Amino acid sequence: MRPFVYQRAADVPSAVMACTGQAMYLGGGTNLVDLMRLGVAAPEVLVDVTRVPFDTIEETPGGGLLIGAGLRNSDLAAHPLVLRNYPMLAQAVVAGGSGQIRNMATVAGNLLQRTRCSYFQDITKPCNKRVPGSGCPAREGDHRNLAILGHSEACVATHPSDMAVPLAALGAVVHVEGRGGPREIPMPGFHRLPGDEPDRDTVLEPGDLVTAVELPALPFAARSRYRKVRDRASFAFAVVSVAVALDMADGVVRDCRIALGGVAHAPWRAERAEAALRGAPATAGEFARAAEAELAQASPLPRNAFKVPLARNVLVRTLLDLMIHDNGEAS
Ligand SMILES: Cc1cc2nc3c(=O)[nH]c(=O)nc-3n(C[C@H](O)[C@H](O)[C@H](O)COP(=O)(O)OP(=O)(O)OC[C@H]3O[C@@H](n4cnc5c(N)ncnc54)[C@H](O)[C@@H]3O)c2cc1C
Ligand code: SF4
Repeated sequence: MRPFVYQRAADVPSAVMACTGQAMYLGGGTNLVDLMRLGVAAPEVLVDVTRVPFDTIEETPGGGLLIGAGLRNSDLAAHPLVLRNYPMLAQAVVAGGSGQIRNMATVAGNLLQRTRCSYFQDITKPCNKRVPGSGCPAREGDHRNLAILGHSEACVATHPSDMAVPLAALGAVVHVEGRGGPREIPMPGFHRLPGDEPDRDTVLEPGDLVTAVELPALPFAARSRYRKVRDRASFAFAVVSVAVALDMADGVVRDCRIALGGVAHAPWRAERAEAALRGAPATAGEFARAAEAELAQASPLPRNAFKVPLARNVLVRTLLDLMIHDNGEAS
């Protein structure tokens, strides 16, 4: 590992001031330190932001939640307001990593963790995300767990975060403090599709510090679910995942929010499926049609075509679960 300078920031202004040149912020370190050991990341300065007092959850005047960027994943998943108002978010966080990792990992660090594409993590291999212009061996090589939606010639990686999937479904807003002052970035829109710049995972600029994530008030998100399919029962990243919130009345879908994970370079908001469902009868047939409408855009690679029917089935199953739950509660 390359030698680096360690600094501990006490507050947001001193953190932003310290993060210049080849400096990086350090959250729980559960991804960044691994990448430093592998030689994938080599910051000259680490600005530790775990003592910055932004690790709380507050209710907003509009009825949503403001989640501090430094809040540990375990504390987010266990918070009573998250469990009651946004259960799919709590379920997604608990589906990630292990108890020990969630105790260390922060909200901002989870959103900003890097892809687990094996070529990205191996500095002996070319990779456009790690070394722009060097090529993408995953296209012809190991892409079983890579993207089926929104990828480019340059990169077919997926974003690994579970937490980001319900955040995209909810339309969360990421609060950022940069050298030009504060700004707010809505999700989707925070993570990028790869295009011809796969080295950029997000729209953040150098030195930008994520300070909070704001959840809008969405009463029907109290009926929501996160479902993750993975190669083993724990400690594995999503092959496909789905976050769904469903608002039904008299057997009709009044509104819904849907996002998919494990399928693209960013959490994938399923806008076509949402549009197909709004106002439609809540039936298995309509759920299948909505899922087909979304997955019609997929362009799988030879060894990940299985993700298309998998994503469709996981979405339909999750909608059915919520519908049955809804009917059960109503009766
Ligand atoms: C074995 C293993 C299994 C895992 N499985 C899963 C899984 O199934 N699902 C899942 O979602 N995750 C999983 N994770 C990922 C884990 O959740 C992430 O490593 C973690 O969320 C990163 O958080 P951190 O605070 O440790 O970030 P760090 O490692 O400290 O940082 C990650 C990135 O965020 C940047 N950063 C940190 N804080 C800020 C800030 N406030 N503003 C701007 N930039 C910032 C850092 O510079 C770095 O680039 C797994 C990790 C491991 C090691
Ligand atoms: S898919 Fe992206 S991260 Fe993986 S090798 Fe290709 S360019 Fe690198």
